[in-house]
Amino acid sequence: MSRFFSKKYSSLEAYTPGEQPKDMKYIKLNTNESPFPPSPKVTEYAKAESEKLNLYSDPESRVLTQKAADLFGVKYENVLMTNGSDEILNFAFMAFCDEDKGIAFPSISYGFYPVFAELNHIPYKEIPLKEDFSIDVEDYCNIGMNIVIANPNAPTGLAMSAEEIEKIVTTNADSVVIIDEAYVDFGADSVVDLTKKYDNLLVTQTFSKSRSLAGARLGFGIGNEALIADLNTIKYSTNPYNVNRMTSAAGIAAIEDNDYYMNNCKTIAENREYTKTELAKLGFETLDSKANFIFTRCDKINGGEFYLKLKEMGILVRHFTKPLISDYVRITIGTKEQMDALLEATKKILEVK
Ligand code: PMP
Repeated sequence: MSRFFSKKYSSLEAYTPGEQPKDMKYIKLNTNESPFPPSPKVTEYAKAESEKLNLYSDPESRVLTQKAADLFGVKYENVLMTNGSDEILNFAFMAFCDEDKGIAFPSISYGFYPVFAELNHIPYKEIPLKEDFSIDVEDYCNIGMNIVIANPNAPTGLAMSAEEIEKIVTTNADSVVIIDEAYVDFGADSVVDLTKKYDNLLVTQTFSKSRSLAGARLGFGIGNEALIADLNTIKYSTNPYNVNRMTSAAGIAAIEDNDYYMNNCKTIAENREYTKTELAKLGFETLDSKANFIFTRCDKINGGEFYLKLKEMGILVRHFTKPLISDYVRITIGTKEQMDALLEATKKILEVK
């Protein structure tokens, strides 16, 4: 830390992204990216747009925003495109929370939530999960705080039903409920439609997982027009050109090729169920994930050791040292071939033990 770093950030513990090592070629199952490349149209549109990089992007990303609105059956005014969904989440923390109005989220969830809260000096409450790692809806009813819940949750992969989320939204009518649907396309119910009914519900999604665009940084929020207007005030006060030209063009192509991406999601969901079944034969217990990753543990090997052994064999997964979940590893679901390589490596690791 330099002697100039502002006191207001001196105790900030920044978010640690999943490792991106360069020492060798790994099978990367640690950051929930898609194993499938973007569709050819995405590369084509982005390349064509690259010739106009001397000009600023459209700050409203109008074509992309309208396409997204049409895809989700909402109006233009209900959508805001951002630089990854991390950006819309941060905007939402900034826009709707302050010292008087804090935010609640599950104690085991996306590690960025407490960081956004700390960064913006927002009081927050981490609500423990039930013993089976599921979220107890009752814990979130009538709590008088803003709420953010990832659905499916990460790193557990467990999903809530739309009815459960609606109950949280209706019992907290004077607070904003943010549902982070980063992984929704792999098998959970989206609550985008409920944004038409409730003015306190913001849904965030991303092109990083189901639409193979993690490296382009594209996310978005859908909500009531007034909520989106507030988020735009934050956006225009921080970074008006938050979605660059090539990313915007890539996003347009990705929406035009929606069927390709939704088919990939189906394949990933099939590979997830296959991996879960095969791991069970080796003695692993895996939570019922609706996401593009699984959270799994085995009595024969602890999470940290399994992670290290897999890494030695060229397979990267994610291990969290946090209490309650340190026995587990989170494994991103890739292609069938990648999952077979993981299963083979796992067999070898368990054999020598
Ligand atoms: N929400 C959750 C639950 C995530 O796991 C991630 C990915 N790290 C994000 C949001 C943010 O993803 P992105 O900024 O790539 O859209």
